[in-house]
Amino acid sequence: MRRILHIDMDAFFASVEVARNPQLRGKAVVVGGNPEDRRGVVASASYEARAYGVRSAMPLGRARQLCPHAIFIRGSHGVYGEVSRRIRDILYSVTPLVQMASIDEANLDITGSIHLFDDEAALALSLKQRIYEKEQLTATVGIASNKMVAKIAANQRKPDGFLAVPNGEEASFLAPLSVAELPGVGPRSREMLEERGILTVGQLAAVPEAVLSRLMGAQAASGLYAAAQGVGSDIVDPVRTPKSISRETTFSEDLQDWKELEVVLFCLAEHCAHTLRSEGLEAGKVTLKVRYSDFETKSFGITLPEPTCLDTRIVEALKLLIPKAQQRRTRVRLIGVNLSGLSKDQHQMRLFGREDSEKWERLLHAVDGMREKLGFDSMRLGNTLKVKKKEDPSPE
Ligand SMILES: [Mg+2]
Repeated sequence: MRRILHIDMDAFFASVEVARNPQLRGKAVVVGGNPEDRRGVVASASYEARAYGVRSAMPLGRARQLCPHAIFIRGSHGVYGEVSRRIRDILYSVTPLVQMASIDEANLDITGSIHLFDDEAALALSLKQRIYEKEQLTATVGIASNKMVAKIAANQRKPDGFLAVPNGEEASFLAPLSVAELPGVGPRSREMLEERGILTVGQLAAVPEAVLSRLMGAQAASGLYAAAQGVGSDIVDPVRTPKSISRETTFSEDLQDWKELEVVLFCLAEHCAHTLRSEGLEAGKVTLKVRYSDFETKSFGITLPEPTCLDTRIVEALKLLIPKAQQRRTRVRLIGVNLSGLSKDQHQMRLFGREDSEKWERLLHAVDGMREKLGFDSMRLGNTLKVKKKEDPSPE
């Protein structure tokens, strides 16, 4: 049996803001934008704000009602991405078997690394310490025989905690917990189970799979049945390439003027391209996403003549797509960029016709280097400088 370590940064965006500005320490901090913005939601809240009931994905207005003295910060996705990558490098010091599950969560297969420490608890503590020393951020760690149980173990000890579940004790560890702790159990299935008197994972584990199957369909039932027994995947896939990279923004007021929309769109494209390069990837397809004021959502895609990691190439592709989106003369509520068809950066193998690209590439690598040091907004291309810091980071 393998040993899987799940690490989850505590209140990540809010904690990064506190680390960047120590005057925020000990205060209620909410990342997600201006609370006057009716449509914004909480992306991350410090534990001081959570004490008042503020939660991720809650409307900002509600957060302010609950915690009027909270400090609201718009947030800077570029900075969070950079911190995340530095944390990933710390994780790599323990094992190459690291799989980032999101910007602030990762799974590590530590089976072969435990012998480098006194025991797995010492390994976990050492990781937590190094992250704290380098970034002034706390994390919570769970260890178990599979990714699911390790994550649930971590959730039981947040913040700044550690819990290991010995091999063979997965089901007994889960038994007293609420069914809502299991992946895939949202508010609706929780209610459905609780109506039938199934409150804990232990009670759920005792329900025959055939009965669950009648309640929720065969596919959902088999997943949930396995989860309730503490069975989950122990595969940590370190080379997983993301399927797509995307950024989008919802406007506080629907926009009609495509000149304004273009500027925001190109700014989102810069962010996507920056992420692309920092992951060593190129994109083969660019998609423009538009949600109109009547909530109709449309996507317009184009396959590039060759994969790219350059802002300019992506912006050129978007310029070809914009006229299609303009055909509906409706106001725009949300706009986004999606880069897909991702592959490992191959550009050095293509040797001709790239003088212009190479010049850009050198420039952009220099820009990315500055951004690593000074934050994303220290460097902007051309007219995206005009964009107000309006973008809401998506919830952690
Ligand atoms: Mg987290």
